[in-house]
Parts: sequence; C-alpha cells; structure tokens
Amino acid sequence: MMTAKDNDDFMKLSLITDLLSPEIKVQPVISLIQENKNDDNNLADQLQSSQITQLEQWLELSQFEGKFNQLHPIYAQSEAFPQLFVVGIGDVEQLNGIKLQKLAQSIVKATQKLAETISIDLSNLPETLHYQFALALTQANYAYDEFKTKKSEITLKNIQFFAEQTSLDSAQLTLLQAIQKGQHFTRHLGNTPGNVCFPEYLADEALKLAGEFPDLLNVTVLNEQQMADLGMNAFLAVSKGSERSGRVVLLEYNAQQNQKPVVLVGKGVTFDTGGISLKPAATMDEMKFDMCGAATVLGVMRALCESKLPIHVVGALACAENMPSGHATRPGDIVTTMSGQTVEVLNTDAEGRLVLCDTLTYIARYEPELVIDIATLTGACVVALGKVLSGLFSPDNALSQALIDAGEQSFDRVWRLPVMDDYQELLDSPFADMGNIGGPYGGAITAACFLQRFTRDYRWAHLDIAGTAWLSGAQKGATGRPVPLLMQFLANRVSN
Ligand SMILES: [Zn+2]
Repeated sequence: MMTAKDNDDFMKLSLITDLLSPEIKVQPVISLIQENKNDDNNLADQLQSSQITQLEQWLELSQFEGKFNQLHPIYAQSEAFPQLFVVGIGDVEQLNGIKLQKLAQSIVKATQKLAETISIDLSNLPETLHYQFALALTQANYAYDEFKTKKSEITLKNIQFFAEQTSLDSAQLTLLQAIQKGQHFTRHLGNTPGNVCFPEYLADEALKLAGEFPDLLNVTVLNEQQMADLGMNAFLAVSKGSERSGRVVLLEYNAQQNQKPVVLVGKGVTFDTGGISLKPAATMDEMKFDMCGAATVLGVMRALCESKLPIHVVGALACAENMPSGHATRPGDIVTTMSGQTVEVLNTDAEGRLVLCDTLTYIARYEPELVIDIATLTGACVVALGKVLSGLFSPDNALSQALIDAGEQSFDRVWRLPVMDDYQELLDSPFADMGNIGGPYGGAITAACFLQRFTRDYRWAHLDIAGTAWLSGAQKGATGRPVPLLMQFLANRVSN
C-alpha cells in the first residue's frame, strides 16, 4: 500500500551570522548580485566579500553582469568559498514574486543534488523580499517520485540565510517550514493517482495526521449510511455511481481554543469522469487533481499542527468519486439536499457543488466564525483567469480583502469575481428549486451562486482553484496552492 511519504524533501531554514565560519566555508555558498546599472565598480564591490581570486579577469572572461537569473558556479577560485555560486538578480526595482520563484528554482536545481546544506547571502536582496524568497526556495525543492523506480536523489536538507540586515526572524522561519510541510503534503496527495487515492484513502490520511498530533487534532469520518441518515442526498447522488464509497472527513484543530472556528471546506472528488455526462478522453487523467481542495485543507491542517498557531480551525473534506455506472445519477434526476432545497441534476459533471452543498450545510453545527470553501470547481474559472490567479467569490468585502492581502503576502494570489443575486435566476429549474448548472455564460459565477444558496447563515468565501491547483504539460503536477494563502490568512488573524 502506497502512503504519503515522510517529507524527505523537507528543508530546514535557519539564519547564520557569519558566512566565514569554518563549517560554512566547505558548503556551497550562493551570492546574490544586482545588475550593474551605472557605477563601474558596482559589480566588483558586490563581489568583494566572495573573495574571488583575480576578480577583474574573472568578470571579463565570465561576462557575468548580474543580469536576472545569470547563474555561474565558481569552483576553487575563491579563497573563502571553494563552491561559490554567483547569481544575478538583475534590477532590484523589477523583482517580483514570479521572478523570485525563478531565482529560487535555478538555485535549488543547481545545488539540490550537490550538498546537504547551502548558505545564501541575501545582503544584496531588498529586505522586503526575503520572506517571499525563502518561501519560493521551499517550493522549488519538491519531487514526486513515488512511482518511479529511479528516485530523484535530492540531498539538500538545510538552507542557511546570511544577511547584513534581514526582516526574517525565527517565528517567520517556523511558519515557512510549516507551510512547506503542508504544501508538500498537498502536492503529494494531489499527484497520487486515483487508483490509490480514493475517498477512504483521504480519510485514512486525516486519521494518520491526527495520530501524529493527537493533542492538536480530532478527526471524525462520516460514512454513506451516516450521510443518508443526515439527508445528504446531493452528496450521495455523486458518490453512488462509484464502487468506492464517499466520505465526509472532519478535522478539528485546537478544539479547546475558546473561539468560534474558521471552517475550511475542501472539494475532494478523487476522480472525476463527469459521471453519465462523461468528459472527453483528452487530459481526463488530470481529473485525479479534482480532490485538490480537500488536499489543500489537509495541507493546511498539517501546517497548523507543525506551526502550532493558536487558532481554532475546522477542516471538512467532501470526498467522493464521480463515475458512470448503473447506479449513477442520470441528468434530470432531482434530489433533496440536506438543507431541504431541491436540485435538478442537469449535468452530472457539475458534481463538485453537489458534494459541497451538503457539506456546507453540515458544518453550520460548528457555529463558524467564517467559512472558506476551496474547490477545483469550474473550467469557466480557468477560462476567465488562466492558471495564474485563483478565483475569489464572496459577498463579504472585509473577508475578501483579507484573502486578497494574504495572497499578495504569500504570492499565492486571488482575483475577486462577483457573486450576486443578479445571476441567481440562471439557476432556475422548471422542476426543482434550482438546477445544478446555469447555462453557458458566467459558469464560475453561477457555480458560486449555487453554493451561496447554502451559505447564507454565516460569513463565507469561495475559492475556485481549478486553474491554479495543478499545472499541465511538461510541468504537470499539483502546485499545493492555496496552502500558502490560507496559512498566511490564518497567521494574520492570529497576529491581528
Ligand atoms: Zn465534474
């Protein structure tokens, strides 16, 4: 039985005060260098502390100018550092989150099989970027080789940061390490194929996590009989087509904390064929990623346990497999949701909102402070925003702004789209209270409007991560988004 691996690509982050101490000198040292703008001696000045022998000659021959993402290994030519890497960061005014990620990827790629520990001199990088750069480094050091006979052989385990001045402190490094563990966990679960990762598997992963952190986490699992007793018929309309039975998994973090919880609800469709409204064959393999909302909630739960943030959080995973079979729901079938509202299932591929709506009704019993659902919900959101930004839908301006801000801080950004009553009539059905789709226009919005009908009793935001939860093509794989965004959001609530 395959299980989620034990963080063997985890990197410890630390701060050092002396780059020249004997144990540092034998490790790869990375020096970040700004592009020479107008001052002739600027490059040489920045490289002074690297103690490159014959610096003038080296600069001439190497043609190193500090241009963005120029990376030069310099072996045995520095008296201080036998394995020195100089990395151009270009014009610091032009640096942004995406550029920091590219730099981090180059540095990690160049060193991750070379050593256990590397040191990075951040002195030439503006302090305001240190946090995002450290986060980007943890994201770059990920490999999924669970099913490869030849393993990735990453050796890198520690990054030590040196800087004359830095905004990084030990609390931030602890948070970054926790985010790293959570985000890698989410990516790992997302990448795990549908024949291994099915609803019960996700429930088992939640129980295992609670086993690791028994003082912090309680887990309850609802099976299909319990769901039937609760009247969760919209959920069951999805899961009944599959041989794999559905689960609702509830994780309560810091239950003893005397405050109303933030509730995170994740869509966990472990494989989405579309059901009787079958999807086309091309790229259907990527529908194993349709559980990335639930994987995000599990990743956040792991990150919370690792960071021990003092906040009360409940996670709810809506786990089902959407398959066509003799038991599957037909287009036109009508179900009564747990809320009492009836739904005509016009398209069985719009199943995410069916498993979510009953879960969103169920979690009201926690009397939430606020609720955020995270779902790979609509192709329409990918059409609107591509694979760069997640869609944010909420009638709550303050909550929206807090999520937008957390997204900027963690470079895991969202873009707000409308959820308003003007669109609700698109969900009208002649036979039931609503249909489960709203026609060809504004599909991401009508999906949010559908969920809104089940969330009127509490503060609520919906994140559509269909574009951002995974990459396709050569880079195919789960991104672990939006774990950084949600951890930043929760950390900000603790510190405010
Ligand atoms: Zn679907």
